[in-house]
Amino acid sequence: MINKEYAEYAWEQTAALLAIDSPSGFTATAAHWVKNTFCSLGYDARITNKGGVLVDLGGENVDDALLLAAHADTLGGMVAQIKGNGRLRLTNIGGMRPENGETENVKVYTRCGKVIEGTMQFCNASVHVNADYKTGKRDFDTTEIVLDEDVRSAEDVRALGIEVGDYVCFDPRTRRTASGYLKSRFLDDKLSVGILIGLAKYLKDHAVTLSRRTYIHITVYEEVGHGCSASVPAGITEAISVDMGCVGDGLTCTERQVSICAKDSGGPYNYEVVGKLIDAAKKTDADYAVDVYPFYGSDVEATLSAGADIRHGLIGPGVYASHGYERSHIDGVYNTLKLLCGYLNA
Ligand SMILES: [Zn+2]
Repeated sequence: MINKEYAEYAWEQTAALLAIDSPSGFTATAAHWVKNTFCSLGYDARITNKGGVLVDLGGENVDDALLLAAHADTLGGMVAQIKGNGRLRLTNIGGMRPENGETENVKVYTRCGKVIEGTMQFCNASVHVNADYKTGKRDFDTTEIVLDEDVRSAEDVRALGIEVGDYVCFDPRTRRTASGYLKSRFLDDKLSVGILIGLAKYLKDHAVTLSRRTYIHITVYEEVGHGCSASVPAGITEAISVDMGCVGDGLTCTERQVSICAKDSGGPYNYEVVGKLIDAAKKTDADYAVDVYPFYGSDVEATLSAGADIRHGLIGPGVYASHGYERSHIDGVYNTLKLLCGYLNA
């Protein structure tokens, strides 16, 4: 049985990955870190044309192979306009909400290799000056990036090397509490990437030979809808997304559990796979919840939409305040690892 040290290891890997900015489309550094991490554990891992990382965990039955997918891309922003007053107007990458980015520190990555700091603020953000601050609607026209540089015009900004199309990355503010809570932006889905690295380390440490050939795909375009639509290895019969589990009103999962999704916005998950995931949780004593996610789409639905003939499932650690300042718990990580080991008979 996998022990809790692997959950701690998974969190260490997650924290290291969270420190690398990687909004969808700007993921090369993160993908190389992921590839090198799997390679250093002794696995065959390669970067796909699209920029994801495909890892072969080995295993026997190549005709009934299993794909585990998690994503390393995150929400973020892109410079849409350099305004005449030297501020930047943003466009969102993925489902980044202006309400969730307001007052956050950001980094602007220029194509010339410079990184410039700033803050996302409501326009005219001093409450002692702006009567509209309390009630003004937050969107990407009423918020802006205030650069921490002496810039007063678009020319000043361009002189720094900043151009339209540059990526703007939000500080993840990663922290772990003494009580085991894990708080950060982008736990969706770097926490699951960490979990799959932890699983791979466990399999290697214990020289486990899996009965099914098993692959991990760390995708890099999930937040924009097409992460796992390509690079499905031959022989795959099942694909399981390991992605954040929903926590909120009307659902039963907590941050300390592993969530098994029965249905999301893309419809029901494969009935047989959901049943086997529940059995795996029971077998390994993993604390789990089965839920229906009201507003959610997963990477393996992209695999199905791309035409793959597979059975699909979705599990992940419970994550509260998703797409905002997210929170999970080390127990949710451990329960997800236990369920995965049960599913793989490892
Ligand atoms: Zn996700």
